[in-house]
Amino acid sequence: MADGCCCPPTAGNEVCESSVQIAPSRVAALCPHCGRRGKPVEGQTVKAFLAESLRQVRRVEYLFCKTQTCPVVYFSADHVQSFTIAQMRERVFQKEPEADEVFVCYCFRHTVGDIRSATADARVKIVDDINTGIKVEQCACDLRNPQGSCCLGNVNTLIRQLSNAV
Ligand SMILES: [Zn+2]
Repeated sequence: MADGCCCPPTAGNEVCESSVQIAPSRVAALCPHCGRRGKPVEGQTVKAFLAESLRQVRRVEYLFCKTQTCPVVYFSADHVQSFTIAQMRERVFQKEPEADEVFVCYCFRHTVGDIRSATADARVKIVDDINTGIKVEQCACDLRNPQGSCCLGNVNTLIRQLSNAV
């Protein structure tokens, strides 16, 4: 969805994460709750979103579940752990894509409601604002966005859906 983003890898704890080299197998990449394929995320993304002790975050591969009806946000590739929406510090766009107060762009603070209520011109300005922020490397998608990557695909999809719904 948001693949192909040009966000530079931000300085998180690359030293910490470089030891993670466990490639998820096909089965392990599937969410243990909904069975849909997860998207690999950095350990620092899980750490940034968890509202609980980070002592439980291990040096294993974690994946993000984007299924709207599934309560699991992150699960470990070894299927030992899964973290649900109730364990997150912030609400997750993919789980509540209709909720006005939920962010779709977490780095530059654009909510679903902001975009819904914006005029066509204002929507273009929001996308421009995000693109400008990315260009000058002000985004921190791995730490701010629960999917661990750029929001632009989600923003563009949302704008398209809203335009079609009119
Ligand atoms: Zn799931």
